[in-house]
Amino acid sequence: MNWMALHDALLDHFGPQHWWPGETPFEVMVGAVLTQNTAWTHVERAISALKANDALSVRAILALPDTELAALIRPAGYFNVKTRRLKALCQFLLECGVAEAPEQLAEQAPLPELRARLLAVHGVGEETADSILLYALGLPSFVVDAYTRRSFTRLGGLTGDESYAAIQRRFHAELPADRRLFNEFHALIVALGKHYCRPKPRCVDCPLLAVCPHAKTLPLR
Ligand code: SF4
Repeated sequence: MNWMALHDALLDHFGPQHWWPGETPFEVMVGAVLTQNTAWTHVERAISALKANDALSVRAILALPDTELAALIRPAGYFNVKTRRLKALCQFLLECGVAEAPEQLAEQAPLPELRARLLAVHGVGEETADSILLYALGLPSFVVDAYTRRSFTRLGGLTGDESYAAIQRRFHAELPADRRLFNEFHALIVALGKHYCRPKPRCVDCPLLAVCPHAKTLPLR
């Protein structure tokens, strides 16, 4: 299986995905926390509420009482949990000295150290940390999600029971460490998972049909 060829086929089919939707690196970081266990449309409403209340900054979020922050991000669901998580992330950025320009976090340490520091923040798991590293900080850390696991297992690239870290290592081994490539490929995999490689796959129209071993086991419809 040629992983670059899969990327190219998806890009030909879907076109550039222009990820991550967000006007600033900090907005991307906030979105990475708010999107946990919820659809992006709900996150957009929460971010709009933060913007409308001049609350989309590290200091503004830290200054808000928990109840007020929870009310603003309520559309994103799990709002009490996410209030604690957002505050923890903002406190981390403040302590790193990058409250005014969170994108400067990228200059503070090599990628593996930054990743470890992010993972130590309350509520930041591997997918959230990698989303921040890749989409907010522009560093080549591949984002793995449920779509990635499902489609690449069906495509024969994974067994399906690997850990997050093992899947990420595989992508890093198969692809050049190019943040633009990682950015686009993850977004394309999400598009694949939403449009075709669903729990019940729509293989007949999938751009990867010709190279997918799983499709050959199914009656086309
Ligand atoms: S051909 Fe089917 S199983 Fe294979 S990637 Fe496409 S939708 Fe998924």
